[in-house]
Formats: sequence, C-alpha cells, structure tokens
Amino acid sequence: MNNISIPELYGSYVFTDAVMRERLPKKIYKELKKTTAEGTELAPEVADVVANAMKDWAIEKGATHYTHWFQPMTGITAEKHDAFISPTDDGKAIMEFSGKTLIKGEPDASSFPSGGLRGTFEARGYSVWDCTSPAFLKEDSSGITLCIPTAFCSYTGEALDKKTPLLRSMEAINIQALRILRLFGDTETKKITTSVGPEQEYFLVDKELYNKRKDLIFTGRTLFGAMPPKGQQLDDHYFGAIRERVAEFMKDLDIELWKLGISAKTEHNEVAPAQHELAPIYDDTNIATDHNQLIMEYMKKLAPHHGLECLLHEKPFAGVNGSGKHNNWSLATDTGKNLLDPGKEPHKNKLFLTFLLAVIKAVDENATLLRLSASNAGNDHRLGASEAPPAIISIFLGEQLEDILNQIEIGNLKSSKSETSMSMGVSTLPSIKKDVTDRNRTSPFAFTGNKFEFRMVASSESIACPNYMLNTIVAQSLKEFADELEKAENFDDALTKLMQKTLKEHKRVIFSGNGYSEEWVKEAEKRGLKNHKSVVDAVYSMLEPKTVKMFSDFGVLSEIECAARAEISYENYTNKLLIEARTMVDMVAKQIKPAVISYAKIVADTIVSLSSVGADDRVEKELLTSITENINSLDNAYKKLVSNISKVDNISDIKEKAFFVKDNISTTMEELRKPADELEMLVDEKYWPFPTYGDILFYV
Ligand code: ADP
Ligand code: MG
Repeated sequence: MNNISIPELYGSYVFTDAVMRERLPKKIYKELKKTTAEGTELAPEVADVVANAMKDWAIEKGATHYTHWFQPMTGITAEKHDAFISPTDDGKAIMEFSGKTLIKGEPDASSFPSGGLRGTFEARGYSVWDCTSPAFLKEDSSGITLCIPTAFCSYTGEALDKKTPLLRSMEAINIQALRILRLFGDTETKKITTSVGPEQEYFLVDKELYNKRKDLIFTGRTLFGAMPPKGQQLDDHYFGAIRERVAEFMKDLDIELWKLGISAKTEHNEVAPAQHELAPIYDDTNIATDHNQLIMEYMKKLAPHHGLECLLHEKPFAGVNGSGKHNNWSLATDTGKNLLDPGKEPHKNKLFLTFLLAVIKAVDENATLLRLSASNAGNDHRLGASEAPPAIISIFLGEQLEDILNQIEIGNLKSSKSETSMSMGVSTLPSIKKDVTDRNRTSPFAFTGNKFEFRMVASSESIACPNYMLNTIVAQSLKEFADELEKAENFDDALTKLMQKTLKEHKRVIFSGNGYSEEWVKEAEKRGLKNHKSVVDAVYSMLEPKTVKMFSDFGVLSEIECAARAEISYENYTNKLLIEARTMVDMVAKQIKPAVISYAKIVADTIVSLSSVGADDRVEKELLTSITENINSLDNAYKKLVSNISKVDNISDIKEKAFFVKDNISTTMEELRKPADELEMLVDEKYWPFPTYGDILFYV
C-alpha cells in the first residue's frame, strides 16, 4: 500500500470518461456523451468504434473475457463470460468484440425469477448495454474480465431486472422536475438527476466459526443462540478503534473498490459488536446502485482472504442491532445545483420548498409502497424492533423546516431560524456553529441538511427498488404540481395555495419525536398512518390500481411488470423462510437433540453414581429435570414445524402460501428457538454442537 499512488490506482479498472476521451475519435466521443448526457439513442457505427476501443483497453490491462453484467430479480448480479477470442481460417485466432456484442447479449436466463412473466421453456432474454454506467474490469482467479453494465429484459420486452425500471424512473423524474424549474424561470438546466449515497452496514465474523454454523451458511443469519453475558450495553464498539484483522480487510476492500472507481470514504465500527459500516461518496442513482452491488460483492469476496466472513443479512443475531442501508437521496441539476439544498434562508427559497413539499406528498401518498421497497424477509426482524426505524413511514424535517411549514400553513411566511454558536466551556476549545437541527435516529425518512435519508432500506438488497420507487412517486407529485401551476394566472398566488393545500393534506406524515416509542404507534394510528409489521403485508400496494396507473403512466413498469414484481416478493419471502425453517429442523435433529441427549446421559449417570454412594444429588436432579422439560418443548415445536412445512406444498396460490408461512412457520420457528436457547444455557459448553453468540461476536 505504501508505494501505491491512490490517484493512479483510483478508477484504473474503469473505462472512464478520461479513457474514452483519450481513445475515441472526437466525433464518436461527442456522440456517446450526447447519449449519456441527454438520453439520445446511440448509432450502431458509434457502438462499433466504442466496442473496439473498449476491447483494446481491456486487453492491455490483461483481460481475456467479457461479460454483460446484469441485475436479475434475485437481488445479486449475474454474468456469463465469453472469451474475446475468435478463430480464423488459418487456424489462428484474433481478439474480437463488435458493437453488436457490446449493445446486445442473449443470456439463456430462463432460471432467473420472472414472477410469471414467462415459462422456463421461453428461454430467450436480452441484456442491453447501459452506456450511462461505465464498463469496468473484474479480477479473480480465472483472470480479468471486462464487465459491461446492462439492462435485462424478456423476449417480449418486459423488464426482468432491477436496473431497467430505475433507468426509466430517472427519465420520468427528469421530465417532471424540469417542468417545475421552467416555471421558476430556469431556462439553463438541461437535465436533472437523482443522486444517492448508500451507507452499507455489515458484520464480520471469523470464517472458521462461521463454517461451524449451518444457519449462517444456509441463511446468512443465526437461527439459534442465547445472549452472551455482554451484548452492546456498553456502546463500546460504536466508533471504537478498528481491530487489526478488520482493519486489514478494510484496507484491502478500499483498494479493490478504488480501482473500480468506487469512492469508499467513511469506514467505522457500528453499534453492535462485530458490526461495521462503509459509505461511498454519492453518485448518480444508477451508478450508485451498480457500485453498491459491487461493494456488497467485494465485501463477501475479500473477507475470506482475512479469515473472515461478511454477513450482509439484516438481522444476523437476535438481541443485538441489525444492519440497514441508509439511502441518502437528492436531486441535482446539470448546472450543479442541489434542489434539496435549503440555503441559508429556506423561507425565501420557494423552489426548494416546492421540491420539499413534493417529497412530503409523495411519501405520504405512497407510504406502503416505500415500506415494501425497503423490505425483505430479513428486515421483518429489524423494522420496529426498537433499534431500526419503525415500520411506520414518517418524515423527520427538523425544527427549522417545521417552523417554516407552520408559517406557510398560517399564510405568514417571513423568517428562518438560524444557526447559533455553542461554547464548550473550555477557553482553549473554539466555539462552534451548531446545526439548525439535531438528528433523529429513529426516523425512517429524515431530512439531513440537503438530502433525504431513507433509513429503512434492507442491508442485503439492491437499492434499485427503493430508488425507482422514490423517483417515480416524487415524479408523480411534481407532475401534479406542474399541471396545476402551468395553468395558473398568478404563479405566486397559485404556488402559495398549492403549498397550503399540500401541507393540509399531508402534514400527518411529518413526525419529529421518538419513532421507537409506544406512544408513536398509537399516535400514528390516530393519524391514519399504516404500520405493516411484515413485508408480505405490504405487497398489496404494488397491485393497487393507483400504483399500477402511476408506474404505467410514467413508463416505469407496465401492469404485468407490477404483477410480476408482487409475485416475486411473495415468492422470495416464502423461499427464504422455508430455507430457514428447514435449516432449523436440520440443526435440531442432527445437532441440538443429539448433543443434549449425550449430556443428559452424563447427568443421569452421575445421579445414579451419587445416589449409589448415598451422596446429595439434588443439583444434578434439578438440572436433569430442566433439561427434560426443555427438550420436551423443543420436540413439540420441532414436530409442529415439520408438520407446517409439509403443509406448504399443498397451497398453490403464491400469496396464500406467503401468508401461511408468515402466520404459521415463522411463529413456530420462534417457539422452537426458545427451548433451544434455554438448553444452550443448561448444557456443558463442551457438548454444545456449534459456536455460541459469545464466541462469534467477540472473537474477530
Ligand atoms: P451519516 O452517517 O452522518 O449519515 P455518512 O457520511 O456516513 O453520514 O453518509 C452520508 C452519505 O450521504 C454519504 O454517502 C454521502 O456521500 C451522501 N450524501 C451527501 N450529500 C448527498 C447528496 N446531496 N445526495 C445524496 N447523497 C449525499
Ligand atoms: Mg446516515
């Protein structure tokens, strides 16, 4: 590391703008830039030249293969490698890569989830080059591969991936946001993009310990485990000094990410023991989404090099904090202006207030959809569990903005609370400027100065879905605003009226208090805000006529694409829980029961020995009774779980299946876990068949 120049390393594996400018003929470069900047279609001749330059660059860097890199609805990325090699008549080979191969690929992808969009016999799927996200090189033991970010669709043109709706939503919000800007007299801005900075939380555990736990291997989380004497009570891990092995991993990860032009910037220990966070600097949503996929992939890939395993699951350990992904989202113009920046005097910044109100309206009207976009089976253990944001969607704005909104409401908008100085009471410490508002850790959707932080997002999932939802719902609000304002005779009056009306209808979603409290649950219910405990409870929102209309009006998802995505949500939930349930059955039958039985025999033998010599065997007998009681409860829950699992196959309707799993399987899993965790505390640790929470969380 010492002799590596970071500026030289940074982006060295990316076909960056600078590389393109250097390697492409001026005219071709300009054409390509026009496509990426303005969204115009790319001519085939341009693609041919770009493909050739890309190939030469990749080969010079040592690449032998290329792949269309896409993001099917599994939530991870997919690739199918092809060699550049092309045999010639004289028995030799040349390295070839045409514009056609750059633009379109045809992976036989019939095994990817399609939500009923096609049968497995309909194998054809197309991957299409997304030239707005730069191509990059990936290195592994098989060599170096040129990766081309692509969108993925079916033979009939339906989106089968996470990227396509995201790209479509970026176009939708651009069009609507531009209409608003024009109304405010902005004639310069050509394009508006949404930016995202996702903070990724994760756990690192010792690889050898990990390998001894089937639950971690099969499901990414622990399904059993009693709480160790120490958890996160002392808060001594949060921002604590980073341990050596972890520090080496982070260094390695930074280097690999920097090569890929991913600006990994902030790294620190998180609240739970063994938990960490990585935040890159924000980027265009599309690129940030691709980068987040790569960040997750490289975390998993590099951890074993350091004897570690990376857990991206939302709740790997019960009883300590889980992981989330904070999706920091904002809108910026191509002239460099952040539309969510309130400036020093927000009450004078009507453009900002318009965008702010558009977001408030969007979030309130589509709260369930947002809840769905941020959730998966893993997040059900986290949302509302007094640690992460609650499952109720609300917005935190902070004192200053709330005060301004109050002024708008009463029709007397005239001032902004300003920042104050704060002294530390020590003359040698400088006095500092205090932010106008404090933070609120408990809010699922918080305004944080010049962006919104959507804090509910699932740590292991792609951020594409929450972002195409956010983009589309805000596009919808902006469209309604623009429709109203464009026909107004007096713009200022119409705007004031619109703001007041929007506030009146949607201020119920604004909440600054403690989102973890019981009172908020009651208050939210009074306000008519939804509290969906499980992701499956929220899936219906994808099928509501107003949702389908919105997505199809903006060309983000058609009616059948919406239906397909709802089906995939049910299917994913069911599959994940069934794998967990079966893993529990396996661990109980093959590990926990045999261990407890062996140990019970030792205790029983001891009782016989003790009583044969007339010694006191009270303690041993009590222990044996507790063991017997718990193993009986364990066995009852085990049988119930086995029976419930066998019932799932008889249900054909995918939605019914998901609800059966939620109401019967996940509850029985909890029943089964309880006696198992009790037994862990009763059995001699030498007999316990796998590493405990204490072993895993404190021995990295
Ligand atoms: P915190 O933990 O205080 O929320 P971090 O620095 O860990 O802050 O993460 C903040 C994230 O927000 C970073 O990824 C940062 O690049 C991103 N961010 C900053 N400004 C914007 C913006 N205008 N739009 C989107 N993301 C932003
Ligand atoms: Mg944050």
